[in-house]
Amino acid sequence: MHSFGEYEARLAPFAARSAHSRGRAFPEPEHPYRSPFQRDRDRIIHSSAFRRLESKTQVYTHLYQEGDQFRKRLTHTLEVAQIARSVSRALGLNEDLTEAIALVHDIGHAPFGHKGQDILHDLMHDGGGFEHNTQALRIVCNIENRYPEFRGLNLTYELREAIAKKGHRMTEPLKAEFETHPHCSLEGQVVDLCDPITYTTHDLDDGIVNGAITADMLRECELWNEGVAWTRAKYPAIRESLLRPQVVRYIINEQATDLITQTHRNIEEAGIATIDHIRVFPRKLAGFSPLMRDKHSGLKKFLQQNMYDHYRVKRMESHARKIITELFNVFLDQPELFPPGVRSHFDEEKKAGNEKRIVCDYVAGMTDSFAQDEYQKLFGHSPKI
Ligand code: MG
Repeated sequence: MHSFGEYEARLAPFAARSAHSRGRAFPEPEHPYRSPFQRDRDRIIHSSAFRRLESKTQVYTHLYQEGDQFRKRLTHTLEVAQIARSVSRALGLNEDLTEAIALVHDIGHAPFGHKGQDILHDLMHDGGGFEHNTQALRIVCNIENRYPEFRGLNLTYELREAIAKKGHRMTEPLKAEFETHPHCSLEGQVVDLCDPITYTTHDLDDGIVNGAITADMLRECELWNEGVAWTRAKYPAIRESLLRPQVVRYIINEQATDLITQTHRNIEEAGIATIDHIRVFPRKLAGFSPLMRDKHSGLKKFLQQNMYDHYRVKRMESHARKIITELFNVFLDQPELFPPGVRSHFDEEKKAGNEKRIVCDYVAGMTDSFAQDEYQKLFGHSPKI
């Protein structure tokens, strides 16, 4: 039988290794042929929060009738996992841990894109706030309930550490055990940068396809122009319909390659030899070169101006605020509307003054379509999104 120990023995000295894992909160015997990080990955894939990514929006919620072709959080997550695994492998890191971190990285998101998070944060202003990374930690430590021996998914320290080191707007006791050092593993740091490589590129792609971003606007986008020049030089007679996917391919590859090269340089210059050195090093070691950092920021700024601030996205966000706010308030005021399992949990937590958090967890766990359906059932109509 192929042993994961043989695989891990070949990794870079500073990669995460199962044998040196700081373990699980609830000690369990490990699996004979799946590494602890592979088991983390499998537990994430089998969780209900992961399945719901299929119906949660990245930027658009059914904005157009043909909206099904656009990225949802599930396809975004799979793209992040693919890019992060390639980067991780090229750096000699633990690909299994990288994949698990990538697959879990968005499971704490509320419905209706990033706006959903902001709306819940406002609603929780006097109750600890809301932030999707911290919510992801709550999901994997507490909210998922599928194993008889423990609450949550009982993931390894390294997986929970990677989640805990992101996000800032929410106080959460679950983060306390990670406060001994500033950074997570390099596997976590790589995912943290492959996420924006992925979303900037696919948002650009989706924005062009749905018409929010026009050829005229693209003249302002440096990485796009570089990609067009690269594509036309490589394929002088390329059909226009193939240009966009090739430029997208170029933009991903340029950023991922720069990330690998610069991170490798950072590790060499810092003389990094162990994962613990990465954890306490004053700076994060994964990063872009100064030149790519500027291009990457330019792409983010371009998308902010031309896509995230687009009036059609703003309209969707306005409807999202109405739906999330009214659902939150109606469940808080009338807990008898909860399904029975949630109601008993609400009543239990109310004794400790935590009832708002239970409402927040419930609403945050909804998919876009479930939230709209619930709104329709409770109020008899729903804002058309
Ligand atoms: Mg993401």
